[in-house]
Amino acid sequence: MATTLLSDANIRLERALKYVHISADASERLKFPKASLKVSIPVRMDNGDLRVFEGYRVRYDDTRGPTKGGIRFHPGVTMDEVQSLAFWMTFKCAALSLPFGGAKGGITLNPKELSKFELERLSRGYIDAIADFIGPDVDIPAPDVYTNPMIMGWMMDQYSIIRRKLSPAVITGKPLGMGGSQGRDTATGTGAFYVLGAMMRKFNRVPQDTTIAVQGFGNAGSIIARLLFDAGYRVVAVSDSQGGVYCPQGLDIPSLQQFKASTRSVKAVYCKGTVCNLVDNQEAITNEELLTLDVDILIPAALENQITEANAANVQARFIFEVANGPISSGGDRILEANGVYVFPDILVNAGGVTVSYFEWVQNRSGLYWSESEVNQRLQTKIVEEAESIWRLSQNLDIPMRTAAYVHALERLEEAHSARGTRDYYVS
Ligand code: GLU
Repeated sequence: MATTLLSDANIRLERALKYVHISADASERLKFPKASLKVSIPVRMDNGDLRVFEGYRVRYDDTRGPTKGGIRFHPGVTMDEVQSLAFWMTFKCAALSLPFGGAKGGITLNPKELSKFELERLSRGYIDAIADFIGPDVDIPAPDVYTNPMIMGWMMDQYSIIRRKLSPAVITGKPLGMGGSQGRDTATGTGAFYVLGAMMRKFNRVPQDTTIAVQGFGNAGSIIARLLFDAGYRVVAVSDSQGGVYCPQGLDIPSLQQFKASTRSVKAVYCKGTVCNLVDNQEAITNEELLTLDVDILIPAALENQITEANAANVQARFIFEVANGPISSGGDRILEANGVYVFPDILVNAGGVTVSYFEWVQNRSGLYWSESEVNQRLQTKIVEEAESIWRLSQNLDIPMRTAAYVHALERLEEAHSARGTRDYYVS
């Protein structure tokens, strides 16, 4: 049988379970999602036709609080993928000590093929279909791959129409004018940058002598690339879904961001316009080539399953920071570990997004709004503190950072599961 994403995710859980005392009940429950909803969303297209889309929402575990996790619009969305992503959110929220369980949602489509009006009708239709499954104290969605603040705004509005009361805390990642938080847009990349800085200090790495390749130049990838560039690191390669650019001397990231914004593709940089003059010796590379470049740090910031048994042996980077969710398969992990590559896992590295989502939810409920520097300050304190704890665990137990992050999360999940009561009450 082909390995599903969820069974692959469970391999990580099994491995971590060896290092933590957790009741058999809790570990058994954590292997299965609490509730999985599949819906059909009929949408009137601009040409008058009716098209039905498939959507999903999965609440994985709510023992630590209401479930939390994004909504993805992508042609590859399946129930298996959404369940795995919801599993990861459960561990991510626990690893960061956020008072949430894990969830995820998605619609199977290529959003680039829809007009803005069609997208709005689809987003509102999705909320009509899942409204009874979500809520500010039950399950709180957010953006994920190919969804953005505008879409979150439509969804919050639709939920408020259904409930007949303004409900900003039902969804995070909203536009600022609809109760969004300062700093939420940039939070995933910013959080990853804080973790990377804290971890690189342990290896005495100097930014100027450190080369980096970033796969994915979207919301998370372009932000971390820019922060690294500003901090003096040499970002030598970046890519998006259409391909990438490589320049051993280092790329001019601000220019690339401008090009991407005006052309929607980093490929446009391949020798049209001024960036070629700014960047000497740049080469066009594929996404696959980027992963195996001779760099110090590799940052997969696109989709899952990019590094697997098929290509892990060719990875030359010494450090990998997973900004995407699940970019390395468990088979890929084994090879990287044997080759001495340090992998800093998604459930820590990309947790800045959900951490600032938590801040947004708190601000919506309290009615008191924070400045961008306040948000970033709190994000830095929180994510670096958890990164340090996970680092200590990995050193003390002599285990990879991924296993340490799961152990760290499992300790908190166990505390919540046992506090709720387990069979210990019924057996002597
Ligand atoms: N989609 C993001 C993630 O995978 C953010 C989730 C959230 O903000 O709830 O972590």
